[in-house]
Amino acid sequence: MTRPRILSLADLKPQDMAQQLQNDYEVVRDIAAAADVEAVVTAGNVGLSSQQMRQLPALRLIAVNGVGVDAVDLDEAARRGIAVTTTPDVLSLAVAEMALALALAAGRQIAEGDRFVRAGDWGRGGKLGLASSVLERRAGILGYGRIGRRLADMLRGLGMQVSYTARREKSDTPDRFFPDALSLAGDCELLFVTAAGGSETRNLVDADVLAALGPQGIVVNVARGPVVNAVALADALRSGAIAGAGLDVFDDEPNVPQALLDAPNCVLTPHIGSATVQARRAMAQLVLDNLSAHFAGKPLLTPYEV
Ligand code: NAP
Repeated sequence: MTRPRILSLADLKPQDMAQQLQNDYEVVRDIAAAADVEAVVTAGNVGLSSQQMRQLPALRLIAVNGVGVDAVDLDEAARRGIAVTTTPDVLSLAVAEMALALALAAGRQIAEGDRFVRAGDWGRGGKLGLASSVLERRAGILGYGRIGRRLADMLRGLGMQVSYTARREKSDTPDRFFPDALSLAGDCELLFVTAAGGSETRNLVDADVLAALGPQGIVVNVARGPVVNAVALADALRSGAIAGAGLDVFDDEPNVPQALLDAPNCVLTPHIGSATVQARRAMAQLVLDNLSAHFAGKPLLTPYEV
């Protein structure tokens, strides 16, 4: 039986899931050779532009291996009736765990302490200053969707007081709602950014929000780089307007602005929020299941709905 041809712009992981894709489909990697494909596999941060869609006249399905759709031209997909699927929920624990890890790393000088030991400064009699407890701070979550709410559950379980903002207040939560990022930042010292990316959330965390967070404040961004203004963040770290930051996502990955590389107490990771074996396997399975459903003419498992 001939296998359907698909275009893959992102690798599934772990390796056995990539192998499964190869077994089930004829996988094309060059878009110039993919004019006949009905389905494309892409990643959240890779997406699919309208220009790429124009090269794919037979396209019926964009299967995103992730939940961020800010890099997919959704208007163009809707105009052409191309379905989009994502991998919701199965990565929420991994990303929430990463957010907590970044908060602890920035708040408890873990990355700085590691550099200090390796550089031999400890052996030479040096000392790090005192940190401020992370779990005794009030937490604010900007973007209270699947990842934000998973994180809120974790933080509450650790005894933290949690507040949040989102487009709409939620009725089914013990956490306190604030109407915007500024009022949320004024009430917390640990600001977690878990909102969707895109034009609506660009620069939601700006110099005013950082000033409201205050000199004990820590910002953690596991959402999308542009949600936090990188210039304002680097300034705030340098001037002491906030105490620290933990960043997994950036405006122009894999390039990280020098100002953030140079900023004090800024812990940086290379967009690995969902990069656990468990999450990536479950994400890949959903991609494979959505592809199978499409080619069998069955309903998609996790269609993205605006
Ligand atoms: P989700 O369930 O769709 O949640 C998105 C949240 O963002 C919702 O609470 C939504 O508010 C909020 N939001 C949207 N526009 C907003 C605005 N203008 N102001 C305030 N809040 C706004 O998505 P999710 O599964 O939690 O994922 C969230 C994001 O995490 C993804 O979009 C992706 O960019 C990022 N992500 C990163 C990694 C990583 O590796 N670091 C991995 C996976 C995902 P409402 O609830 O009111 O609609």
